[in-house]
Amino acid sequence: MPEFVVVTAAGSGLRLGYNRPKALIELGGIPLVRRAVDGVKRANVAGVVVTAPLDHLSEFEAIFADEPDISVVAGGDVRQASVYNGLKEIPKLARRLGVDLTETTPVLIHDAARCLTPSTVIDAVIKILEGGIDAVVPAVPVTDTQKVVAPSDAGLERVVGQVNRAELRAVQTPQGFHWGTIMRAHEEGMKRLYATGLEATDDAGLVEALGQNVFITPGSPLSLKITTKLDMVVADLLISNAELAKSFQ
Ligand code: C5P
Repeated sequence: MPEFVVVTAAGSGLRLGYNRPKALIELGGIPLVRRAVDGVKRANVAGVVVTAPLDHLSEFEAIFADEPDISVVAGGDVRQASVYNGLKEIPKLARRLGVDLTETTPVLIHDAARCLTPSTVIDAVIKILEGGIDAVVPAVPVTDTQKVVAPSDAGLERVVGQVNRAELRAVQTPQGFHWGTIMRAHEEGMKRLYATGLEATDDAGLVEALGQNVFITPGSPLSLKITTKLDMVVADLLISNAELAKSFQ
């Protein structure tokens, strides 16, 4: 079955302390976005849409210039809007490639920032979608105890609740969906975003908002989202030491 992937790469590098898009930052001489796309291509997907920051579009287009199975589109102000732009490109890419796009075609949404995600996780998500489940996300148990907090008069945050850690999962990408389900979820999500300004931080959340089930498959510590300088140091260590990386799969 052909699969499509949206790789979200339209974020800024501000939290990493760079004044250029995070996805263009190089790890071992290779930009994060190139690494992420190569990772999903190893799963033999039919086509990939990369969302890029509008003001750096040409730099992203140059990276993928010779690959007809890759489209680069401008992202939006928030991740949700970027993914929606990426999804809207899939029918065009499918037509260009002469590939059928149906209600149940598997579509993965993957953060460029999670460029070290092992193939085993990507393959598992695709297999579950091909088995008939229409929404699945990789996730790992949380190790820190989690508290709910609120501001207080003392000027410090105050604990107002605790959640049972055993019931919690930290959700990663690639999140996988059937084409019909994720497009409906995003269309509803965009209406909500325009009406309320409320943004979903992941795609599965939009499917949950439709009242549909989302299932979990084991994620990986290697799927860390490169967000801070510490993450860059860890990622650098992992790519320079393949044996070390393998031990975490
Ligand atoms: O900001 P955050 O770390 O949650 O971003 C997760 C992913 O979403 C990153 O790969 C980033 O490039 C992407 N993103 C995007 N469009 C935005 C913001 C973030 O594609 N407007």
